[in-house]
Amino acid sequence: MLDLVIRNGRIADGSGNPWFFGSVGIKDGMIVEVGRVEGESRETIDAGRNIVSPGFIDGHSHSDLLVLNNPKMDMKLQQGVTTEVVGNCGLAPAPFVPHYGSLLKEYIQPVIGGTEWEWTWNSVEDYIGKLDKAGISENVSTYVAHGALRIAAMGFSGRSADKLELMAMKEMLEEGMKAGAIGLSIGLLYSPGRYASKEELAELCQVLPKYNGILSTHIRGEGNNLIPSIKEVIWIAEKAGVPLQVSHLKAAGRRNWGKVLEAMELLEEASARGMDVTCDVYPYDAGSTSLTTLLHGVWRGESRPVLKG
Ligand SMILES: [Zn+2]
Repeated sequence: MLDLVIRNGRIADGSGNPWFFGSVGIKDGMIVEVGRVEGESRETIDAGRNIVSPGFIDGHSHSDLLVLNNPKMDMKLQQGVTTEVVGNCGLAPAPFVPHYGSLLKEYIQPVIGGTEWEWTWNSVEDYIGKLDKAGISENVSTYVAHGALRIAAMGFSGRSADKLELMAMKEMLEEGMKAGAIGLSIGLLYSPGRYASKEELAELCQVLPKYNGILSTHIRGEGNNLIPSIKEVIWIAEKAGVPLQVSHLKAAGRRNWGKVLEAMELLEEASARGMDVTCDVYPYDAGSTSLTTLLHGVWRGESRPVLKG
């Protein structure tokens, strides 16, 4: 006797096979039959020829605060998403150090939002604990975000980290990895992430291999500087010996159209050298980010004005 049979579905099994009509039989929470399912079942769902597939993984989201404040996450479930990954692009609400709390909120507000909600955590471990207890309907995993680490260690200081600051960032990263984070995300388009040199980032990444952590990157420039920016993150990941994920790969600006092919070649070369390299793209031909990325140099009194298109 099965617990549940989903009948009359177009089954896309996630292996890359074409879909086929069939049924899925479930017992004790496990899929035990796929295709032609005979026998009785306690419950039957007629899929009405809709797609029946494994849940989708949203590998790049900024729902860090939304999942805590709308744990039902119905807008994602309705799209078939059952797992999402937060903490991307160097942006996350933890670690939250009260002394720099308003800076962190200002930093993440344009992308993550939710700063009007109550923040009841400090460390990344603490934040992950809140996720565990929130009764979220999806699975959620998170990166430790470099921008948040840097703010916790040194505010918005527009310079390289000194030894103590770097040590503090490494400790906070390690604590987050121990608590279950899947890696480090960096956002080199954004202040204060952009103040970090590739050497500083490679040093920070030394924490990751012990925990099988990966490096996820919003690279320094996705327009005129696309190619040097791709080379930079390949260098960091190779130096630290960690898998590399390039987020939302694109060549922004008409004069850069086509550079994605060159970027892909660099990633393929790295892969041929034995690196574990992947990238993702938006499923649409538009992007968005905060206006402050255009205001480096005038925002927060940075010393060298830079205006990038
Ligand atoms: Zn990003």
